[in-house]
Amino acid sequence: MYPVDMHTHTSHYSTCGHQTIEELLQAAHRRSLHAVCITEHAYRWTDEDLVEVVRRLGLEGQLTALGGEELACYARDGTRQGDYLVFGPTHRLEGTWDVRELIPYVHEIGGIVIGAHSMRAGYNSDRIVYELDLDALEIHSKNHKPEEAAKALECARTRGLLPVCCSDGHRAEHVGMYFTYFAEPVASVADLIRQIKARRVRSDCGDAIVTLAAGQ
Ligand SMILES: [Zn+2]
Ligand SMILES: [Zn+2]
Repeated sequence: MYPVDMHTHTSHYSTCGHQTIEELLQAAHRRSLHAVCITEHAYRWTDEDLVEVVRRLGLEGQLTALGGEELACYARDGTRQGDYLVFGPTHRLEGTWDVRELIPYVHEIGGIVIGAHSMRAGYNSDRIVYELDLDALEIHSKNHKPEEAAKALECARTRGLLPVCCSDGHRAEHVGMYFTYFAEPVASVADLIRQIKARRVRSDCGDAIVTLAAGQ
């Protein structure tokens, strides 16, 4: 199994980030992660830039860094809909998105959308996630209290959504705190998408392994 943290931020593009890309990747390597996804708010690192940093740190062949994006979605009337992780687009998605339009758009281009800390207080996504065609739902996260993670797991079970765990690490000490095991190597975003779609993953959330994958 290949441990992957699909949700992290740096200080370069996320104002809330407290680590450089180098600190993030070194932390991911120390934690023995196989791959780490950089999911800045409204920015998508290019594959070339990430490959270059990995090479500069001497981590080639030991750690893969992949680009995704975290989008804060709003309905057309301005109602907040929560945060969503997007994998597939090669560049950042411009503008403000209604999640009900975002999901079909990303699916159309072969990508995936994951609900990020959906039960977190103040994000207004606790009900809407019950209606969305998401590819996975974040359960344990640095930004989910235990009771919020329990609510997310209940939603995943009710909806049959794939449960995943991600750190949402904004600091080096949090990278890899939660992660998801992939059945096969993840050398590219395409590898990540394919295995999420096929549910070839298992979430290890610290003590509690979420065994809901594969529709159990
Ligand atoms: Zn977020
Ligand atoms: Zn985040």
